[in-house]
Amino acid sequence: MKERAVQEDIMLFQIFLNDTQIPSPSVFEVGLTLDDKLVCTCPNYKGRGKCKHVNLVQLRMDMNDGIYEPSLSKDVTEADVAKAKLSTKHNREFLLKFGIPEVL
Ligand SMILES: [Zn+2]
Repeated sequence: MKERAVQEDIMLFQIFLNDTQIPSPSVFEVGLTLDDKLVCTCPNYKGRGKCKHVNLVQLRMDMNDGIYEPSLSKDVTEADVAKAKLSTKHNREFLLKFGIPEVL
């Protein structure tokens, strides 16, 4: 339950898949906290407070006026996008469904 509450305070930006054969967890999520801080669920971020996933998202935001635009499936409709804006929970469900994960 605690885990879940934390996630709902984070606006998910991008899903990454592991690029190695290391066993689970192999799916990492980068998102923005209520304090405008980028965080990641990977072991490197947990250990050092930084990682290549956060670095990449930050770089893209810096090049795009601070806005992150994830790659999305072509099946996305305007209604889906509108629904995603309702809450961080809706946004997360939207990205899990339509966001294109990147391997890094
Ligand atoms: Zn990471």
